[in-house]
Amino acid sequence: MLRSNSSLLLLLFCLAFTVFSNSSYSQSSSDKFVVVLDAGHGGEDPGNRGNGYYEKDIALKIVLKVGKELEKYEDLKVMYTRTTDVFIPLDKRAKIANDAKADLFVSIHCNGVANSAPSGTETFVLGLHRNEDNLEIAMKENSVIKFEDDYEVKYDGFDPTSPESYIGFTIMQEEFLDQSVLLANFVQNQFQGSLNLKNRGVKQAGFLVLRETYMPSVLIETGFLTNKTEGAFLNSKKGQQKLSNAIVDGINNYKNIINIKAIEAELSEYRVSSQDVMEDFSSVSFKVQLAASSRKIEPSPQNFKELSPITRHQENDLFKYLFGDTNNYVNAQTLKDKAKAEGYTSAFIVAFDSFGKKISIKEALKTRSSD
Ligand SMILES: [Zn+2]
Repeated sequence: MLRSNSSLLLLLFCLAFTVFSNSSYSQSSSDKFVVVLDAGHGGEDPGNRGNGYYEKDIALKIVLKVGKELEKYEDLKVMYTRTTDVFIPLDKRAKIANDAKADLFVSIHCNGVANSAPSGTETFVLGLHRNEDNLEIAMKENSVIKFEDDYEVKYDGFDPTSPESYIGFTIMQEEFLDQSVLLANFVQNQFQGSLNLKNRGVKQAGFLVLRETYMPSVLIETGFLTNKTEGAFLNSKKGQQKLSNAIVDGINNYKNIINIKAIEAELSEYRVSSQDVMEDFSSVSFKVQLAASSRKIEPSPQNFKELSPITRHQENDLFKYLFGDTNNYVNAQTLKDKAKAEGYTSAFIVAFDSFGKKISIKEALKTRSSD
């Protein structure tokens, strides 16, 4: 089922509101926002081999692309559970994140089933499976512990392939569930917006790797290797780049929501609340100004470090070069961060009304203010 964009945003708004009212959200001791990226499988554990591909290799390539992009952001610290083709036990993956007091744990996998028809992306948070499909996928991903010598001891007799084991599955992630769902929604939303892949939605299942972490955590199934078209897409450089871009944007959206206190301070003088600002400003278009010049340059991504879309706006004798187009102020913050990460360090947000006339941010935000 496809949700309309506005109802999805409403859902995100409600979730975000829950997150703010919950004081227990995780925060690392350093002032940087720490993200631990976890490429599923590795070494003697190949993951699924749909259409002859190696899940472990594709997951790692996507993770490295996500990390390379996130490392450009000054306020982010990126850590990896593995950067090469090695086997890492599930509990060690979680320990790396716990020891780092990470703000987020993001595990990346590719799906695989016996049938070649299923396709699409899905993002999991920890929970009890609501149907057989989710149990099946959790069993498959958890079965990697059989590569670990003493898994029966380490995981308290847990047998990944026995449905009975899942009945007593303890959920230690509960306090982070709202935030995990928020991130999962942002990621799926980005997949849906920028990729032509079926959105299978946000789901819950009993993944061991998520159970062992003490911070908001998600497991992303980026698509089915067992599906011919999707497998080829996942195995392509272009596909991996597109998927990683979407994951980066999802993480940044999440980070901006969590950091909304800073945005809120900026907004207080306009008498706009953070609740207001998370919703769409239907009559306003926010863009990010990258540069102003008397030179007329083609507004194409190639001329602006592949940022897209680029538009040109003329004011008197000056051409302004703008990146992005959104009626959501939080998204605009994310776009601005992205531009800064690409080297446009003085990038800032500008706003246009529904007639294309430039208005001040104050005027724009007032369209949602309560007075
Ligand atoms: Zn996997």
